[in-house]
Amino acid sequence: MNKKYRKTIIAGNWKMNLVPSEVKAFADELRAFLPKARTCEVALLVPYTHISTLRRALKDNRIGFGAQDVSARDKGAYTGEVSADMLSDMNAHYVIVGHSECRQYHGDTDFTVGEKAAAVLGKGMCPIICVGESLEQRERGLTMAYTTYQVLAALSYIPEGKERQIVIAYEPIWAIGTGRTASPEEAGEVCAGIRAVLRAKRGARAARSVSILYGGSMNPGNAKTLLSMPDIDGGLIGGASLKPRDFSQIVDAVALAAQEA
Ligand code: PEP
Repeated sequence: MNKKYRKTIIAGNWKMNLVPSEVKAFADELRAFLPKARTCEVALLVPYTHISTLRRALKDNRIGFGAQDVSARDKGAYTGEVSADMLSDMNAHYVIVGHSECRQYHGDTDFTVGEKAAAVLGKGMCPIICVGESLEQRERGLTMAYTTYQVLAALSYIPEGKERQIVIAYEPIWAIGTGRTASPEEAGEVCAGIRAVLRAKRGARAARSVSILYGGSMNPGNAKTLLSMPDIDGGLIGGASLKPRDFSQIVDAVALAAQEA
């Protein structure tokens, strides 16, 4: 983390879990556990159908809301899609683009991910652009080459000067939902590499302003050491974000990691 130059963000990705009628109980529990004095931004990225309900249930709790995907198109005959305009009208702040599950199941490519990021930015919201290698790519020594390519592809859709408004999430695919976490050194090294790519393309000021999150089985037990790495500015949390106590403990870990820095 480097709080002088950029935000620390703990964002929960609910994926396709909970039904709207379960949201209020979740919110009550979360409110009870979340630390009152927070040293980071907290956000919940939930199914489209839950955004309004959750916002109402957690109003006045300084939590940002958002979605897990978006259409790259503006409007029109795209049955089943949800546009950036619709999300901004619901006061969404963050939108995940390029999650590995969307790349795997919905055919997102590095180019559609870039288009989606641009659509989100165009409506004044913040895209959380996910990148990360597969196990095979890691084992073949291609981690940095592959994530560099993904970052460059997404960046080619981001106008100069808008870097401060994006977030990048490094999510090694082999660590998502598997209980297997990248070590702090492994994750920190890739996040530092991503920042170096940003620096080379957009300059030092832009590079140091971008929050880079780590995602992949982050939990209360490993959060503090991961968040202690200088280029890891928070977490994108899947499974643990569905457990209010665990999610809150990860938020607490930000303060503990900062104390040790
Ligand atoms: C995710 O879905 O973005 C994620 C990091 O999931 P998990 O924390 O469950 O690995």
